[in-house]
Amino acid sequence: MRIAVIGGGWYGCHIGSELIRLGHEVVIFEKAPELFSGSSGYNQFRLHLGFHYPRSSKTRHQIIDSHQRFLKKYPNLFFPVTTNVYGISKGDSVMDWMTYKTVMQHDCPGVEFEEIDPASIGLTGLEGALVCREGALLAREPQRFFSNLLRQHLRLNVCVKNARTLVDGEGRPSGAEVDGEVYDWCVDCTYGQLFNSARGEVAYEVCLTLLYKRKDKNVLHLHHAFTIMDGPFTSLFPCFDDYADAVGDLNRLHTLTHVKHTHLKRFDSFADAKAYADAFTEADAQRMRPLFEEGILRYLPTFLRDYTYHDYFISFKTKTTGGADSRETVCRTNGRVISVMSGKVNTIFLAEDYVVEEIQSTAE
Ligand SMILES: Cc1cc2nc3c(=O)[nH]c(=O)nc-3n(C[C@H](O)[C@H](O)[C@H](O)COP(=O)(O)OP(=O)(O)OC[C@H]3O[C@@H](n4cnc5c(N)ncnc54)[C@H](O)[C@@H]3O)c2cc1C
Repeated sequence: MRIAVIGGGWYGCHIGSELIRLGHEVVIFEKAPELFSGSSGYNQFRLHLGFHYPRSSKTRHQIIDSHQRFLKKYPNLFFPVTTNVYGISKGDSVMDWMTYKTVMQHDCPGVEFEEIDPASIGLTGLEGALVCREGALLAREPQRFFSNLLRQHLRLNVCVKNARTLVDGEGRPSGAEVDGEVYDWCVDCTYGQLFNSARGEVAYEVCLTLLYKRKDKNVLHLHHAFTIMDGPFTSLFPCFDDYADAVGDLNRLHTLTHVKHTHLKRFDSFADAKAYADAFTEADAQRMRPLFEEGILRYLPTFLRDYTYHDYFISFKTKTTGGADSRETVCRTNGRVISVMSGKVNTIFLAEDYVVEEIQSTAE
């Protein structure tokens, strides 16, 4: 069948490549000059295992179910993190340490972790902490990988304006029209940017991520990640490949986020979010820096001794307007147009299963 996939991030590229593998004729539209120009290229690059979502069993289970498939399918697109710590903030966490630990022990099938003494790795202000095997996604390699794999199927620099279902003489869905071209199906992988604005079902958050370099070149083989739970806290996470190459030393770069300060502003329309992001400057990032640093110094007092500010980036998070604790992947079919609302990167497989089943159900 002839299928149009709109959006060249993790979801569009993965789903597009699977449809090609199944023998379909696929065209992938991307409005930017290159793939992974959206959130897939600008996020915290955490290959989630569920530790981030103690209050959403559904999100945890989606992530865990997809994780092994991700490791098998893309063995060269992630990296292990040596010391990956999740800690519960003392006194002001939504969930206390015992409850957090119990949830992770009993409702994360097959996911291992070890409890540690936070002080043993220089952390303060925590009620308890664990070390887990959650890895990191490579930052730039997926873009190169999919550009190469999909090169004969890409239409870059094309911003799709409209996609709609076509019906036959009896009113049954017969195909999809994408900016005047006819396909059998259309899959919207634009992270809610193409259709949902008008419906008010999603909101667009403009997000600020700061980048810091580790100062000590002798610890390059150690990759540290610290994530403080459960509430408006901070996370320091290693960032691998080209970002790191750009600062001269591989594996020294880290992203620093903060639940409260990373989310700069929320908008009902993507155009408004984009306008706000375009007006954001380095001076604005510098104004935000003390808030981010205060957030991590509370738990890692040696942060400014060990890390130095490097840069920042802005990206967009699309959120469904209900279910604040959930980051589920949700797919919906309207005639011959399938909308994919992504959750986390490694839940691409849930979307793939849905899309393939829908499309195969109409194959002759
Ligand atoms: C700050 C931040 C941190 C995050 N951290 C993590 C993390 O650590 N781990 C994790 O798993 N997830 C994380 N996420 C979520 C993750 O980034 C997203 O779930 C994932 O990248 C979404 O992939 P996608 O392909 O659906 O969307 P995108 O990567 O945004 O791709 C959508 C593409 O569609 C294109 N497009 C839009 N409209 C059109 C149009 N009309 N025509 C043609 N093309 C169009 C865009 O240019 C874009 O390239 C984070 C997100 C943010 C914002």
